[in-house]
Amino acid sequence: MFDTLSDRLGAIFTNLRGKGRLSPQDIDATCREIRIALLEADVALPVVRGFIGRIKERATGAEVSAALNPAQQIIKIVNEELVAILGGETRRLRFAKNPPTVILLAGLQGAGKTTLAGKLALWLRNQGHAPLLVACDLQRPNAVTQLQVVGQQAGVQVYAPEPGNGVGDPVAVARDSIRHAQVKQHDVVLVDTAGRLGVDAELMQQAADIRDAVSPDEILFVVDAMIGQDAVATAEAFQAGVGFTGVVLTKLDGDARGGAALSVRHVTGQPILFASTGEKLADFDTFHPDRMASRILG
Ligand code: GDP
Repeated sequence: MFDTLSDRLGAIFTNLRGKGRLSPQDIDATCREIRIALLEADVALPVVRGFIGRIKERATGAEVSAALNPAQQIIKIVNEELVAILGGETRRLRFAKNPPTVILLAGLQGAGKTTLAGKLALWLRNQGHAPLLVACDLQRPNAVTQLQVVGQQAGVQVYAPEPGNGVGDPVAVARDSIRHAQVKQHDVVLVDTAGRLGVDAELMQQAADIRDAVSPDEILFVVDAMIGQDAVATAEAFQAGVGFTGVVLTKLDGDARGGAALSVRHVTGQPILFASTGEKLADFDTFHPDRMASRILG
């Protein structure tokens, strides 16, 4: 995902090697190059501005360590600031004190939501939980079947309206699923909601109605990391329309520039909880800001 950005940053740091001491001009030039590299990776402008401001301040400031050469010092600062914009600490999924824990998944169609539902279900199962997948995407004809397929692959039960019962009311399905989970002793309920190709008011309202019906412990906004700058506007729209407590980045295995991944935490103020890195159910893990920063810095 971050190959180009990694290469660019690597080249910038290589240029600094061998310098005995960094002049203010060196720091300026380096910051300018990092700025361009980030913008070309599609990182949102306000995020870049803040990032570069902090790098410059720290590189110019007093925190110069005798143990590190100038290139190492810059790399250390950039690394720490990358970890910070990615969220700092790893944020774990929050479980309810009284089960079931309810997790609502929201995002645009094609973001990888249904796949993610299966991945998260398998991940939870592997941790000893007994999740229930709930099909509340009743807009797309194949969505229920698709969830049933990933449920089967994950070995997790799927709660869905009976086939032939018409389109169904996703709010009622969501509400009923909680009772079902209690009776069948599922301790986590994963609610898949409908996604449209673009942000639209009806979709937001439906997701908000489902939210109000099930009082989720977590609302996860699922976003395709390959959609570049659009990710920020989409995230802001979901934040305003539904609200969310965490982000899941999908398609981090792609070769796009990845700026969405670096922007979304800062722009929404919500942590990235998980990363999805392929089409298979196992291509999924907890998101660790420090590991991602290390990957970017190569
Ligand atoms: P939904 O409309 O949000 O439910 O999206 P889907 O789960 O149907 O996923 C849309 C497409 O993206 C499918 O072809 C998935 O196989 C694919 N997909 C989902 N997650 C990933 C991922 O992390 N990496 C890659 N390469 N493809 C993914």
